[in-house]
Amino acid sequence: MPENTVPASQYDALVIGGGIAGEEAALNLANMGFYVVLVEKDLSLGGKMIHLSKVFPTLDCSACITTPKVSETARHSNIKIYTYSEAKDIKKVSNNRFSVNIIRKPRYVIEEECTGCEACEKVCPVIVEDQYQYDLVGRKAAYIPFSIANPRIATIDIDNCILCGACEKACLAEAIDFTQKPEVIPVEVKSVILATGYDLFDAQKLPNYGFNKYKNVVTAMQMERQLVPTRPFNAVLRPGDGKMPSNIAYVLCAGSRDATVGNPICSQICCMYSIKQAQLLMGALPMADVTIYYLHIRAFGKGFNEFYMQARGMGVDFVKGKIAKISEKENGNLIIRYEDVYKGKVKESEHDMVVLSTGIMANQGITGMFPDLNLDTDPYHYIKQIDELRNPSRTSIPGVFVAGAVSGPMDIPDSILSAGAASSETASYMRRLP
Ligand code: SF4
Ligand code: SF4
Repeated sequence: MPENTVPASQYDALVIGGGIAGEEAALNLANMGFYVVLVEKDLSLGGKMIHLSKVFPTLDCSACITTPKVSETARHSNIKIYTYSEAKDIKKVSNNRFSVNIIRKPRYVIEEECTGCEACEKVCPVIVEDQYQYDLVGRKAAYIPFSIANPRIATIDIDNCILCGACEKACLAEAIDFTQKPEVIPVEVKSVILATGYDLFDAQKLPNYGFNKYKNVVTAMQMERQLVPTRPFNAVLRPGDGKMPSNIAYVLCAGSRDATVGNPICSQICCMYSIKQAQLLMGALPMADVTIYYLHIRAFGKGFNEFYMQARGMGVDFVKGKIAKISEKENGNLIIRYEDVYKGKVKESEHDMVVLSTGIMANQGITGMFPDLNLDTDPYHYIKQIDELRNPSRTSIPGVFVAGAVSGPMDIPDSILSAGAASSETASYMRRLP
């Protein structure tokens, strides 16, 4: 049970989620003079964007866009940040105030003392899969989540720690504290912005595609990690045997527009991130062939169709085909069985690596944060915008707003625009309060 309750604090707005939308909304409000408390469930700010290589369709460096925003948020005097924390029990205490319990999970490291020196990480004998590299490599039980994490502080993964004490001995700052307990921080706010983003579709729900069965079938996020400057290997490698691939296939709509797996809608980003990765791969592996199997290419945004045509011009092969099954050969290569839609024939093709362009799903943990209030969701479990055309940030609870992909699939520029709308609507709401 949580312990260590500290006295309540009062803020103007609570922003839940420290990704690009949450940071944008928090910064906008803070720059208008409002006091903001931002709660992020992960160990670092930055959301999913901080783990990406480049953005489409401009191919700008993703981290170069997001890290200045992360630091500006972290250093803003009007923003109080709790990372590795969750907002719970959000209740109305009056017409214009909400009470919230922020649950701060123990890192087993004293944040103020940790210098980020990595000494604990070096001596820790336990290696587990690294979730920040999408399980491509391992990490220690004592670890700093990733090199550009903010805050750059170590954490002990207590579920996998064997309590050997090596980290404690190695830490010259005496920052390791195995006695830490969860802390409950009660706060009061006038408004709430939900910016919790989305969940990635679980590729294991597509058994015909062989993810987690065939090592050379990877998700697009695993390929993304191989294309970033902070990549786990110094080249693009196929996980089965460490060879450089020379014939890579992308399978679009893996877990999107598919009612049989519970996600009948378009994820809006998979076509374009796959086309982006295909272009990056042609630079990283100039001799490789890249084939994209698709049903429809959704290149609807500004510059998207030109970006798609650029990929075709670079030699990416686009095949309109419905994938039935992926199987593995003895040498680790993969056979894709598909219906060639234009020719009306079933065909097979061989590739040495297959990337599943997995879709996105609604983050479903949000409604539970409001035990006594009715936060409406749409049929796909995204938070419902009750006045989508005139006030797209409003939810069914007055004073609670949405920013970014919490209300539906959207790309990075649209998330930033949505966060701008949410902060503006929130400021206007707070100014009208008695
Ligand atoms: S906990 Fe100690 S050893 Fe580990 S990074 Fe922080 S200061 Fe260094
Ligand atoms: S006590 Fe736990 S975290 Fe520290 S070095 Fe040992 S296994 Fe690693």
